[in-house]
Amino acid sequence: MPAVLKSKSNGSGLGRHTTVTAVLFCFAVIVAVVTIMVLTALERVSENANVLDDERSRETTVGAVKTFEDQLAATLDDYAAWDDAAANVYSPAGMAWTISNYGEMSVNSPLFDMAIVIDDEKKTIMAYQDGQPMPKPVGDFFAPSLWLLLDKARAPDAGDKPEATGFVRTQKGIAAVGVALVREKSGGLTVPAGQHRYLIFARHLDDAKVEALGDTYVLHGLRLVPAEFSSAYSVEIADPARTVLGKLIWVSRSPGDIGYAQVRPMVIQALGLVGLFFVVLLIIGWMAGRRLKAEEITAREEALRDRLSGLSNRDGLGLAVDRFVAQAQQTKQNVLLLYLDLDGFKEVNDSYGHGTGDQLIRAVAAGLDVLIPEGAVLARIGGDEFAIAFLSEAEHAAALQLAEQILDFLAEPLEVGRRIVVVGASIGIAMSALGSIAREELVRRADLAMYKAKEAGRARMTLYDPAMDTDRETRNALELDLRMAIENGDLTLAYQPLVDAATHEMHGVEALVRWNRPGHGPVSPEIFIPIAETSGLIESLGLFVLRKACETAKQWPELKISVNVSPGQFRNPAFTDYVRYVLKQTELEASRITLEITEGYMIQNPQRTRQSIERLKSLGVKVALDDFGSGFSSIGYLRQFGFDRIKIDRSLVTDIIGNSRQREMLQATVALARALDIPVTAEGIETEEQAVALRLFGCDSLQGYFFGKPMSADHINDLLQERREARVLRRIAG
Ligand code: C2E
Ligand code: CA
Ligand code: CA
Repeated sequence: MPAVLKSKSNGSGLGRHTTVTAVLFCFAVIVAVVTIMVLTALERVSENANVLDDERSRETTVGAVKTFEDQLAATLDDYAAWDDAAANVYSPAGMAWTISNYGEMSVNSPLFDMAIVIDDEKKTIMAYQDGQPMPKPVGDFFAPSLWLLLDKARAPDAGDKPEATGFVRTQKGIAAVGVALVREKSGGLTVPAGQHRYLIFARHLDDAKVEALGDTYVLHGLRLVPAEFSSAYSVEIADPARTVLGKLIWVSRSPGDIGYAQVRPMVIQALGLVGLFFVVLLIIGWMAGRRLKAEEITAREEALRDRLSGLSNRDGLGLAVDRFVAQAQQTKQNVLLLYLDLDGFKEVNDSYGHGTGDQLIRAVAAGLDVLIPEGAVLARIGGDEFAIAFLSEAEHAAALQLAEQILDFLAEPLEVGRRIVVVGASIGIAMSALGSIAREELVRRADLAMYKAKEAGRARMTLYDPAMDTDRETRNALELDLRMAIENGDLTLAYQPLVDAATHEMHGVEALVRWNRPGHGPVSPEIFIPIAETSGLIESLGLFVLRKACETAKQWPELKISVNVSPGQFRNPAFTDYVRYVLKQTELEASRITLEITEGYMIQNPQRTRQSIERLKSLGVKVALDDFGSGFSSIGYLRQFGFDRIKIDRSLVTDIIGNSRQREMLQATVALARALDIPVTAEGIETEEQAVALRLFGCDSLQGYFFGKPMSADHINDLLQERREARVLRRIAG
């Protein structure tokens, strides 16, 4: 099957599809970028939150350490600046008081775990740890930095608060230690310098206390570690000599990290959803694009297909030929193009209706499809026009052979529905050798060749010939001039006498159209009538001739008048009406008119011809078969058509004197017509011999140069006048 062409192209739909995809892709990229930006911002926020929190933790830890030391300092101040203490600590009898109020208070006290009293010589007066007397000397238990505190408390610039606190390493660990002069609450002291006594409190920073600090100040994982321990989150504890004793470390809560960890999945989910939304959009867009594309392809295929026949249409053919031409250039082949016009399709349509016409087109399409070579494209390019294009190694021969097969196929009667119809075809052939001729020109040539085939007569094939182009131009100019001539009423009529075979007396005239083309001289109707037929001018020309002939004939009551009717007119269903109209207008008796038609048309369309003839005869006009014997000579049809007369063609008459076979044929033809009771006219009589012979054969009417050439109406008038005068003379003589 010659598939309808599929072609790829970047249609607007496809472009739209690509744009949609591109836009969606951009959105997807934007979503990704936004995701990254949002996550980066969140990370930044979380980092800041972490830094802020760590800062706070550090400050809190510093505060905790300070408070730890300050609490000890406050407690120490309470116990040292105490009137009772000033009275007892310096008194030899006050030892019991000292032990019970200082030493034994160190048990289970949250405020201090060691209480020591020393004198100015650093000699231990009393030393208690956790409520028990200390076994070891105080100097061994504390690091020497203790004495720096003592020095500070004793310093003259200590003023009214001879106290000092700080952290000191002990054998038990690290402790907040305070040294304070024991004195009266008011600060007064009766004891002279050098005999002063000092109260030392120590409060160890043990694990339990560190933990309690952590709980109080909400410092997660607060721990005391050696000085060497390195951590990003630490606060150093240094002694009065600025020696680092240890570090308090904690675990960063990284609230930013926590928040980030909480928010991140949500952000990712949200943006993921947005992304998903775009993916869905993309998919929908893509699917819509695909559907659009599919629809477009179908629409394009539809646009290239002829609905009735299912074949390619003119556009489809154009694409195929373009493709073939391009291919031919590469493969060094030839593109052959056949243009085919059905003869007689219009008649089938007119007489049987469009349904039958459509069926005929389908039948022809199916038949052609079988005949065409593989790879060929078959197209229907007009009402009854087909085209076949194909690539071939061969030259015209391939196309001629195909054309012959097609003509053979179409010569056979076709069964269409319950009817049998006969159509023919005129085929024009053009070739693009090696793809050297582009589509437009190739199509023009095939079309021109087809017109030539049509002009030459039906059921023909014609190869394009460059001479046709000049013919065409000449023809176009002629057509233009003819149109003008008809419009301006420049056509005239000549009248040729028809005489009685026995008396040679004129009993009628045949009207013959004449055209004196300006600048060219007289043009034969044999040239311009076919042009009028193919260009649609025949109707107005025919109408003019008929009216003019009828008008003129009114002045010749003794004559009958014959008018030629071309197939183009006869085919028109309105023809009868316009004959009736002219008759009415001119008030000419219908019986005086003979319409001459040629046989070519009837053969193609017997049924329709019979109907038309019947209708015309019902008007009262006579119908004659013209040019009998020149073409198909289908005498068998004669009777059924009911012709009133037949006219033997001039070509049969010419040779009857020299050629006996020709004479016999003519004799037989006339005899047959006579047998059917149809009167016969012989035309083209140029000699007396011919006139005699044809009368003998049985013709009752004769026409030809021997009796008179086509002449003007005035001339006919003269002839009639002469005849009347001759009659008068004869009557007078008689
Ligand atoms: P036709 O109908 O066969 O007309 C007869 C043609 O033979 C005329 O040629 C006429 O001049 C020519 N003729 C007549 N006697 C002789 C003769 O003895 N010897 C020779 N050699 N020729 C003779 P014409 O006028 O050139 O017309 C040619 C054809 O043009 C006509 O053939 C007819 O078919 C067509 N035609 C002429 N006028 C009209 C018209 O008004 N309408 C239509 N449709 N066709 C017309
Ligand atoms: Ca005629
Ligand atoms: Ca004739």
